[in-house]
Amino acid sequence: MKQEDIMMNHRIPDEVRYARQIRFKPLAVDGQSLITASKVAVVGMGALGCVIAQHLARGGAGYLRLIDRDIVEASNLQRQILYDEDDVYAVMPKAQAAARRLKAANSSIQVDAMVEDLTPANAEELLKGVDLILDGTDNFSTRYLINDYSVKHGIPWIYGGAVGSGGMMMAIRPGSTPCYRCLFPAAPAPGTTDTCETAGVLSPAIDMAASLQTAEAFKLLSGRSDKLHGSLIQFDIWDTGMTQLKISDSKRADCPCCGLHHYEFLEPDEAHPAVEALCGRSSVQLTPAVPMRLNLDELASRLQAAGTVERNPYLLKLLLPNDQSLVLFPDGRALIQGTNDPDQARRLYTRIMAP
Ligand SMILES: [Zn+2]
Repeated sequence: MKQEDIMMNHRIPDEVRYARQIRFKPLAVDGQSLITASKVAVVGMGALGCVIAQHLARGGAGYLRLIDRDIVEASNLQRQILYDEDDVYAVMPKAQAAARRLKAANSSIQVDAMVEDLTPANAEELLKGVDLILDGTDNFSTRYLINDYSVKHGIPWIYGGAVGSGGMMMAIRPGSTPCYRCLFPAAPAPGTTDTCETAGVLSPAIDMAASLQTAEAFKLLSGRSDKLHGSLIQFDIWDTGMTQLKISDSKRADCPCCGLHHYEFLEPDEAHPAVEALCGRSSVQLTPAVPMRLNLDELASRLQAAGTVERNPYLLKLLLPNDQSLVLFPDGRALIQGTNDPDQARRLYTRIMAP
C-alpha cells in the first residue's frame, strides 16, 4: 500500500505497520499473527510498565490490559516514558494516560485501562482471560499475588525489577519452570533491600530489564518458547555486566505455591494492608475494607472548605493548606501525598471522609 493511500484512508494495514517485525525470520507472518491474537496484562504502569506496554502495543499485541493504582507525578517524568508534564498538571491516572498514548501509537489494538490496586479481592477478575502477565510492579506482595494467580491458572508471567543501575528478570511458566516463590520464598524484611527510594534508579537500567522482559514475551506469544533463556538474568549497566543464573534445578517440592498449591496470596484476607506506604516517594495508599461508591462531585463541593479541590473524570484531588494532598478514587481508595506515616494518613482520611 502506498503512503498516499494510507493518508487518504486513515488506516495503516498490519503488513505495513509490522513490516520490520515480520521480516525478522524467527517471527515472520505466522509469529506476528499469534502476537496480534494475544491478550496481555501489564501490572504496574510505572517505569517498567511504560517500556513493556510501549513495546507490546507497537509490536501489535492485540489486547492490552493496563492495571495501575497511581497518578502521574512530577518525579515520574525522568523515567516513565509514556507520560508528560500535562499528565502531572491534570492529575491523570497512569493507566488512563498510558492507554491514550498507546492508542495514539497503534489504533488497531485494544487497550483497557484499569485504575485499580491489584489485591487478593480483585485479582481473579482483573487478571481473567489473558494469555500472559507482565510484571511492572515495585513490590514483593503484588509479585507473590501474580505468582499465585499464574500457577493456579497455568498462565505464564514475566518478572522484572530494577534499582540503582542494576536489575533482574525471569520468565515463570507454570509446569515448566520454578515459580517466583521457589526462588524467593519470602519477602525480605522491610528496610533490608535497596529500593528506588533509597538507591535511586537510572532509566536505562529500567529499559534494560523491561526490554528483556518484553523479548521473552514476544517469544512466548509467538509460540517460540523454545527460545526462552530459562534463567534468572541479573545485570548492571554502570559496572557493566550480565549473569544468567540457571534456574532449572531450583523448583522446590515444598514450595507453598507450585509444590503444595496453597495460594495464600490469593485468599482475601482481613490482614491485607488497608494502609500502605508506597515505594519511591512520600505517599500512603489507603484502601477501605469494603469498596464504596463515592459521589465525587458531591464530595468536591463539600471539600471546598478544607482546601483546593481539583477534579477530572477519574478522581478528585484535595490540596490542603499544609501542602499535603489527598487523591480520592470513586471506590473510596485514597492516596495521601506528603507523608510516609500510615497513622497520620489514616487520621487525615477519616477526618475528610467522616467530618
Ligand atoms: Zn514454586
